[in-house]
Amino acid sequence: MSERLKGKVCLITGAGSGMGRVAAQVFAGEGASIVAVDLRGQQAEETAQLIIKTGGRGIAVQADVSSDTDAQKMVAAAVKAFGKLDVLYNNAGIFPEKDHSVLDTDSEVWDQVYRVNLKGVYLGCKYGIPQIVKGGGGSVINIASFVALVGCTVPQDAYTASKGAVIALTKSLAVQFGPKGVRSNAICPGPIETPLLTEWLFKEPAEKAKRLNRIPMGRFGKPEDVVYLALYLASPESSWTNGAVMVVDGGITSNYF
Ligand code: NAP
Repeated sequence: MSERLKGKVCLITGAGSGMGRVAAQVFAGEGASIVAVDLRGQQAEETAQLIIKTGGRGIAVQADVSSDTDAQKMVAAAVKAFGKLDVLYNNAGIFPEKDHSVLDTDSEVWDQVYRVNLKGVYLGCKYGIPQIVKGGGGSVINIASFVALVGCTVPQDAYTASKGAVIALTKSLAVQFGPKGVRSNAICPGPIETPLLTEWLFKEPAEKAKRLNRIPMGRFGKPEDVVYLALYLASPESSWTNGAVMVVDGGITSNYF
């Protein structure tokens, strides 16, 4: 059995669903101790139980990543349970249906998207990075999106802008904390079959077909497509990878026509 994350303590936000849950399970299977954080405590607890049932180590923390108090709480829980923090995986994100063009997106929706998708990453780093430094270094993995790299005729402007900011922040983190042994990288997934996408896009077959047509690989992504890249970034295999923006999108952003 391979143990690419043996001895590592990994905090994953948004671990109660989608890619975060799959990451928690894959990382635990590679020997990591998992702190599964989610807004919905019950969902986080389910993830922790899935890990424990298969012989892994994991705890659940209910936290809103956009809350300063909760962000402190989740990092403190990691240190209390497992003694340190090696990997901070800022995965939680939202994409409300009401987020559309700048022309018709309410400022409340804009602020909400920014609170979770950007402030959540800032707070995770604010409290997580000092612990990673204390332990001698590690990895910050920030989840952005392919929509931050190319325009889209169906706008989702708050989401797009927030993910672009996550990329910019990642580069700043890479330069600031690389000398302290903390590498910071961003992943830009294409459309992945998780509740965030399926609850919205797959309700309408024509909308689904339109997007599928643009993907050179001929299918939507699976959580594992992203999680195995994150596994590389979490493991010491990526010890010289810092400030990278990595696209996993089946070729969408390479597709002019
Ligand atoms: P998901 O299935 O909706 O999972 C995200 C989890 O984060 C949910 O359990 C969600 O809870 C939780 N969450 C939301 N707000 C939170 C908060 N304030 N504090 C803590 N947890 C919170 O989404 P996913 O598709 O796996 O997405 C994971 C990440 O990948 C997100 O950052 C997303 O933007 C990004 N991404 C996704 C896709 C895609 O096609 N799926 C593509 C590119 C990038 P609720 O269910 O209660 O909201």
